Amino acid sequence: MSKFTLKELGSDADLPDDYQKYLGPGGGLLNLENHLPFSPDSIKSSNPGMWRYADMLPLNEPSGALHLGEGWTPLVTLQGQFSGLRMKADFLMPSGSYKDRGASVLLNRCRELGIREVIQDSSGNAGASVAAYAASTGIAASIFLPENTSPAKVAQVKAYGATLRTIPGDRKATSEATLEAAKNTFYASHIYNPWFFEGIRTIAYEIWEQNGEKSPDEVVIPAGNGSLLIGLFLGFKAIEKAGCGKLPRLIAVQAENCAPLALPANLETKPTMAEGIAIAHPPRGRQIIETVKESDGFITTVNENEILSAWKSISLSGWLIEPTSAAAIAAASRLLAEGRIKPGAITVATGHGLKTLLK
Ligand SMILES: *Cc1c(COP(=O)(O)O)cnc(C)c1O
Repeated sequence: MSKFTLKELGSDADLPDDYQKYLGPGGGLLNLENHLPFSPDSIKSSNPGMWRYADMLPLNEPSGALHLGEGWTPLVTLQGQFSGLRMKADFLMPSGSYKDRGASVLLNRCRELGIREVIQDSSGNAGASVAAYAASTGIAASIFLPENTSPAKVAQVKAYGATLRTIPGDRKATSEATLEAAKNTFYASHIYNPWFFEGIRTIAYEIWEQNGEKSPDEVVIPAGNGSLLIGLFLGFKAIEKAGCGKLPRLIAVQAENCAPLALPANLETKPTMAEGIAIAHPPRGRQIIETVKESDGFITTVNENEILSAWKSISLSGWLIEPTSAAAIAAASRLLAEGRIKPGAITVATGHGLKTLLK
């Protein structure tokens, strides 16, 4: 049996294994069914990082993957003001964000397909991550960025040898230019390409192992386009299907200033410190809301004061993370105080604070 089936959302037809467009033939989002079960017996703990799960990733030859040893980040217990919470320190990654898990699997998939060149658009971590793994897999990358992107992020993309395509105008102009270019070049997108989500799955597998081979009750995460949320969901669903644990409640956190998932009626968005989740129109919005519901979780918001205050406190305890990650800690801390989540809840720290400090 094949390792996976690729489908367009809302259609039963299987797409060819080597399908390379970013949307289905009917213009719908793509989803992948990974037929490789979660299987504790096939964990290769001598492999570096998340590649201990190589045999569960939908690649033709995972043992031949070119990677940077990303993953197997610590799950730590927070102290002081945040005691009662645990944090998966996923900002400790080669390019400084959890997105490396997705980019690593996606670029290795591209390599297996014989793709020589990819494009990606991002004003933040996804661009840096795709540029890093394009470098490690020997694929040329062009990263489309809005003209006002912070110099530190531009410098990181450049350092990996990617071609910078600076687009005048706002974020929307950059998206439009990318979609136009995607007609001719492979779009290595963290939003559209399901292989990205397959890499994110490994956070769930690691949490399961580090939590004593059990699923936790609750996971609290920042959410914008939902790649972290959907990836975690797929991972924990596989764990549940294998009879190894349950699906935890997934609690998605948005900044009050930009909360299309939590406050859909409030279409006006304002800038937020939590730039990693400042997504006004997430293409997978409906899928995100359904995923949260299926896990019996919910979506909540935090304001700018709460984000800044949590960021300052967590920095004073020695953890330098992005304000976007502090947003999830701020929410988890409030929910714990309100008794809406239990002690032991896990937050995922998604991005390294050095990136935003240099702004
Ligand atoms: C991308 C990102 C997120 C959120 O991911 P989505 O897939 O957009 O939901 C959270 N934190 C940081 C630091 C990010 O870069």
